[in-house]
Formats: sequence, C-alpha cells, structure tokens
Amino acid sequence: QTRTLYYYTNPEEARLLLRTRDRFSHKGTFGHALLLAGSYGKIGAALLASRACLRSGVGLLTVQTPRCGYDILQTNVPEAMCRPDQHEHVLTGMSDISGPDFSEYSAVGVGPGIGQSPETVSMLRGLLQSLRKPAVFDADALNILAKNRDLLGLLPERSILTPHPKEFERLTQRWENDYDKLEILQDFARRYDVVVVLKGAHTAIATPEGEVHFNSTGNPGLSTGGTGDVLTGVITALLAQGYDPVEASVLGVYSHGLAGDIAAANRGQIGLTATDVIEHLRWNM
Ligand code: AMP
Ligand code: MG
Repeated sequence: QTRTLYYYTNPEEARLLLRTRDRFSHKGTFGHALLLAGSYGKIGAALLASRACLRSGVGLLTVQTPRCGYDILQTNVPEAMCRPDQHEHVLTGMSDISGPDFSEYSAVGVGPGIGQSPETVSMLRGLLQSLRKPAVFDADALNILAKNRDLLGLLPERSILTPHPKEFERLTQRWENDYDKLEILQDFARRYDVVVVLKGAHTAIATPEGEVHFNSTGNPGLSTGGTGDVLTGVITALLAQGYDPVEASVLGVYSHGLAGDIAAANRGQIGLTATDVIEHLRWNM
C-alpha cells in the first residue's frame, strides 16, 4: 500500500475540518492567542493580524506591539488586550505589564511588521528558548531565522512557517525550478519538523511527515500588502482553539482564500484590500 502524499483542499475537506461550537462553551474554550507584531511605520500589520485573529474565533487575544502602537491598537481593536513593549519603536519582548512569559498563551503568532532590529532578533531568540509549543512564524520573523540559522534548530516541533516565495528562498537558500521547489519544501518541513505554508496562487502546505496540501481558494486580488498578515492572524486563532498545526494551516489557508474569493465577487479583484479579506471571512461554510 502506497501512502498518499498529495492532497487538495476542496470545500468538503474544509467543512470536515471545521469544528462547531458547543452550546456550553465560553471564551476560555477557544484559547488565548498572543500576537507579537508591528514596529514604527508598520503598526498596520499588527492591526490586520489582530482583526483577522478575532474574526477567526479566538477566545481571547493579547497583542504585544512597540509603545508607539499602543493607542492605535487599543482604539482600533477594542476587543484585543494590549501588552505594550518597553521599547517605543521596535519589539524587545519586554513589557512593563509582565515579563517575557509566553507560557500562559495557547498559541503565539510572531512576525507581521516586526522588522529586523537587533532588539527584535534578541526577542525572537528569547521566545524560541522559552516556547514549549508550536507557534506561527511569518514575515520578518522568517527573515530573522534565515539570517540567524542557529535559531532554526530552536523552533518548537510542528511550528507553522508562512513564507511567501521570496522569504522561502531566503529560508532554504536554494532555488532551482518549480519542480525542485516542491521537493525543497518537503525536505525543509521534514528536516526542521515544521509545517511550511508556501504562499502563492496555489498555496502548498508541507507537513513534517512529508505530505503536501494544495489549496483551492484565492485569487490574484490577494496580491496586495497586508493579506499575509491577515493569514497569520487566522492561523494563530485556529491554533489557539486547539486545531493541530496541520489542520490550522490547511483550514486557515482555505478560509483566507475563500474570503478573498467572496470579496472579489463583491467588488472585483482589482480594488481588493487586506481589510476586505478580514471582513469577508466566514466560518459557516
Ligand atoms: P504576503 O506576501 O505575505 O502578503 O502574503 C500574500 C497572501 O496573498 C498569501 O496568502 C498568498 O497566498 C496570497 N496571494 C498572493 N497572490 C496570490 C494569487 N495570485 N493567487 C492567490 N493567492 C495569492
Ligand atoms: Mg507577508
């Protein structure tokens, strides 16, 4: 008997993954996510990821942003709690409210808009040393991993990495043709025991077991700034709710693309924004 290696996420697959809510549930049932996002000039990334996380069923959300993002976040996303970083402009991981204790959160998502300042590199190292469960790594968190390759070995097993092709190229340091790309993707996921979400027209999700799930939703309207930050919020929310990392990635990517498709049906692909994607997320599929 040969093992199935390649999967395609169609509407039926997505529906099977989606859990319904128990009548006697409460916000504690759906986890507490922590997003580490934003830096001076990129607080928008933190807002987008936060709003997407809240629109994807998380019970509670705490966001750590640099101080300059505090008022912006509290005003624009009142549902989220904010843990202001000690630093005005970049993330250091330290906050006056509490120390860098990440253990109380059911899932952590890190990367949107964080930049690559030395303080933020140290923050990521500290995070990796203290994390005991899978987390979501995106954007500059991936670029930091690519430049500080000893950190790759510290990734909690079954963590989720969500690179776009350029970030993937930096991470793997290999780039041949599209056929090799699939093999490189599978090798990387196996080698580091992580789930890799290689984003694009048919996002490919490689599992640590070497399987690949291709997504069926999404359109070129998503090729605009901020849509990746939205995906990070969605996947972090699912992870916080107890979906395992592969399920969270497959269902998150599908729902994100579906939201893009519904938004494009409403207003066309050309004018689509990341905020539209958030507003069209739907979980009654
Ligand atoms: P990022 O580059 O991090 O902002 O992420 C972009 C997001 O938009 C990812 O979820 C991609 O899969 C999605 N995306 C970008 N271009 C396309 C496309 N042509 N078709 C479908 N999805 C796309
Ligand atoms: Mg991105």
